[in-house]
Amino acid sequence: MSKVFEEKAASSLSELGLCVAHDRLDAACQRAAAESWSYSHFLGYLLSAEVEERHKKTVNLNLQFAKFPILKRLPDFDFSAQPGLDKRLIDELATGRFLYEGRNLVFLGPPGVGKTHLAIALGVMTCELGHRVYFTSAIELARRLSLAMEQNRLHREMNKLVHPKALVIDEVGYLTLDATQGSLLFQAICQRYERGQSIILTSNKAFSDWGEVFAGDAIMASAALDRLLHRCTVINIRGDSYRLKEKRQAGMETLVTKPPKKEEKMP
Ligand code: ADP
Ligand code: MG
Repeated sequence: MSKVFEEKAASSLSELGLCVAHDRLDAACQRAAAESWSYSHFLGYLLSAEVEERHKKTVNLNLQFAKFPILKRLPDFDFSAQPGLDKRLIDELATGRFLYEGRNLVFLGPPGVGKTHLAIALGVMTCELGHRVYFTSAIELARRLSLAMEQNRLHREMNKLVHPKALVIDEVGYLTLDATQGSLLFQAICQRYERGQSIILTSNKAFSDWGEVFAGDAIMASAALDRLLHRCTVINIRGDSYRLKEKRQAGMETLVTKPPKKEEKMP
């Protein structure tokens, strides 16, 4: 490339905001000449770093927006600790197909079995696919919406929950919602259902007890479940608590590794 064209290309790249391509233009020109690259090779080399960098930025923004309480990933999940859980199913979910089908995911089970871990990990995966996710607990969602309603900005607050590609609603059923909060949770579920947007939900309560989640309103509970379960994968985790298992194992190890106490001699 003649010097004039190279300078023109550099200024065009920076004008277009392609900073990474701009920074590697000089080196790319030299390598292309030295290694006789084809035009398409040259263009691919120049733009691939730009695309990668943009994707990284998008993922970081998505992760910030999601407000995960902690980052959890699928490779850190020990499937051997939950032999009842079908790893192939989780692997299928990790492809992200459920997002494009507007399928919901519901993780049910007692405390400590990894429901939140898996919900966050699938949320992180969604961010990595380049989509927006929002994480909230059921009670936080209900409180935020109640406050927004009092302040006459419910529509705006609801929109924030409706637009992301996936909404994670954690701990449904841990804390009882009042009637207003229950109806706001119901509205959030309905609006996402109407838009065909996925919800990833975790709960310790069987569906038969969901009346309690909606302040004793069994009709609202069944209307919410109707929408939630219409296109849904339910993952029931029945195993032992991972936290307790770890504690128990640690306890065993201290028992095994502790040297036997010397018998104290009576004076
Ligand atoms: P739940 O939401 O079902 O109450 P969590 O997902 O919060 O449980 O799990 C409790 C803790 O144990 C978290 O730190 C989580 O990362 C960890 N954990 C649970 N199950 C597993 C597992 N099978 N492999 C690795 N870590 C796990
Ligand atoms: Mg949890």
